[in-house]
Amino acid sequence: MAKEKKSVRLEHISKIYQDPKTKKDFYAVNNAHLEIAPGAFVTLLGPSGCGKTTTLRMIAGFESPDFGEIYLGGEPINALAPNKRDTAMVFQSYALLPHYNVFDNVAYGLKLRKQDRETIKRKVLSILDLVGLSGMEGRMTNQLSGGQQQRVALARALVLEPGVLLFDEPLSNLDAKLRVTMRTEIRRIQQEAGITAVYVTHDQSEAMALSDQIIIMEKGVVAQIGTPQEVYYHPSNEFVADFIGEANFLRGKLAGGGKAEICGHMVEVPPSAGRPAGQDCTLVLRPESAVLADQGQLPCKVILSCFMGSYQNYHVTVGDTLVKITDFNPKSKKIYQVGDNAWVNFSRDDVHVL
Ligand code: ATP
Repeated sequence: MAKEKKSVRLEHISKIYQDPKTKKDFYAVNNAHLEIAPGAFVTLLGPSGCGKTTTLRMIAGFESPDFGEIYLGGEPINALAPNKRDTAMVFQSYALLPHYNVFDNVAYGLKLRKQDRETIKRKVLSILDLVGLSGMEGRMTNQLSGGQQQRVALARALVLEPGVLLFDEPLSNLDAKLRVTMRTEIRRIQQEAGITAVYVTHDQSEAMALSDQIIIMEKGVVAQIGTPQEVYYHPSNEFVADFIGEANFLRGKLAGGGKAEICGHMVEVPPSAGRPAGQDCTLVLRPESAVLADQGQLPCKVILSCFMGSYQNYHVTVGDTLVKITDFNPKSKKIYQVGDNAWVNFSRDDVHVL
């Protein structure tokens, strides 16, 4: 569908705003340096205010960086107006034209580009088919559901055959169930259209489900770039570990030889290249990677034991540290009760050393 899949490169991009209250300047985006491969689906993920939308708007040309250069398909684009860039944006608010029907909403951008009637008709009908709206051409947009309106918004961007499609939290206005359906649809359509996509969300499950690569931002800074598996299993810091899924943090000291001392007990950890014994460390342990047993690595006391159907949810204390444990398929297992003394077990490859 797209003329050409394009790469996106941000070279040391910063954006400075003034805080309206304090009148002080601050970095909304601070030295973002990253490359998005042609055809990739990449998500900008992070908490509210971390600079995701500002980054996306700079790629679209609605904001200009104060420092750095943005490249699209290898070409510098800072100086180009939004309508001269090979990008199209899908907005959270859909931004549809209320007095136009579905066909005219999708055709609008092509008419502005002075394409002939036959071409417009062919392209619009083909895109409506791709987004699953065939037969709805004549409907007014206020006769559509939220999900259908979002499909029109997507069709309107896709029909321009941009090199890069930009999404600004496109599913936030939909209910939870429809969000899940629509994100699968967006991924299918992006792959069928063979287009590079940059997608802003603060929803980590949306990012995990959609992305080839996730860019995690914290306070204007890119904290980590990686596949969903990389950021989940090998987070670069505690912020990333905590933001993506749930994490337990066990603090102690490296003991050398693939071991660490946690609360006075030696546990096996993956070799931490080049880090000396005696150095402080934090082990990231995912709740589903830990199990309770009658003996094992770290002694603990059970303070919460809750049956959740597909899993037993435990909270235990190891020394002063709270550890959350998700034990799947509990039917066939021993269930520990509040007040029980037990042991936390995990395999060496299931912890990540920070
Ligand atoms: P959200 O998920 O809430 O949309 P975000 O990660 O997309 O957040 P941005 O919209 O990029 O965050 O905003 C980054 C920071 O810049 C925030 O502190 C925001 O208040 C501030 N900001 C955004 N636009 C402006 C502006 N035009 N003037 C001043 N500050 C701004």
